[in-house]
Amino acid sequence: MTNSNPSPETLLDRQCEQRSEPGYLETVLESGTRRVVIFHRGKALMNGSSLGYFAPATLPSEPPAGTTYVYLAKALAGHGLPVGTDLVLQVLPYDAGDLTWVPAGTEFAGYRDVASALTAGDVEVFVEAQAVANWHATHTHCPRCGTLTESLSSGWMRRCGQDGSEHFPRTDPAVIVAIVGPDDRILLANNFAWAENKYSTVAGFVEAGESSEQAAVREIAEEVGVVLDSLSYVGSQAWPFPRSLMLGFMGYTNSSVSTPDNVEVRATRWFSREELQAEVLSGSAGIPGRLSIARELVERWYGGRITEPGDVVEPAELVAPGAAV
Ligand SMILES: [Zn+2]
Repeated sequence: MTNSNPSPETLLDRQCEQRSEPGYLETVLESGTRRVVIFHRGKALMNGSSLGYFAPATLPSEPPAGTTYVYLAKALAGHGLPVGTDLVLQVLPYDAGDLTWVPAGTEFAGYRDVASALTAGDVEVFVEAQAVANWHATHTHCPRCGTLTESLSSGWMRRCGQDGSEHFPRTDPAVIVAIVGPDDRILLANNFAWAENKYSTVAGFVEAGESSEQAAVREIAEEVGVVLDSLSYVGSQAWPFPRSLMLGFMGYTNSSVSTPDNVEVRATRWFSREELQAEVLSGSAGIPGRLSIARELVERWYGGRITEPGDVVEPAELVAPGAAV
């Protein structure tokens, strides 16, 4: 069942206070026991289907010019490494030249392509690494004066060499809402960017000066033409495209009318629990993958796990449960 809020548990100790001490990252970079996560052009170097945690001895002693290092965390559990292992991110420059030095059996891959096969520990590292790597890639120059900035605080701050202004990794809040109607059906949307049978919840960025609740009401009205009467916050998920924090809500409406905006949303559809489960099983409707908060929201409404083709199913799971909220 997925009726609890997302877990606050973490598999990483980010050492947030220690990492800003002078020399912290340099000391870690001299340690032979550290493990290195490598990113290039928004993709991580994978070791088979797992995120690669490379021993320094397996990598070139001299990194490509323009490489940025970031202290990620001490591994607590779930990474297949000794507890306390320091994890360091190596962000290769966009034009990193010849990459034939990467260890045999490894290849670069994007999060969406590999996420479903990752362990919870790998997901946490991947998302942190991708978000901070994206930030470094787009904040090479000072937004005030255009001078080159320098990476400091173990990769968690950049400072302008001209005016000394300090810049920190940004997180962009976005809202994502599962809409529940007066008859307890769920309203899902099909976007132009997706296959015509893929349905999901509605999401959008929080604007400057707006609360997340106001953003949720505005986005739902804009994209699917529904007026929400109440909202219930469920939980959040970091999502590295490019560095978002998805704030998940259940949204309730007394209206059963909806109007797609024809800009982002191609179509909307109300589903009962029985309809959604049957169509997912037959393949006539696709829903978001299990790692996404969108799926968490849909299953929260559903009241349990939605079975997909290929799942091993206990007979009891095929009975649609009642309302969960
Ligand atoms: Zn500046």
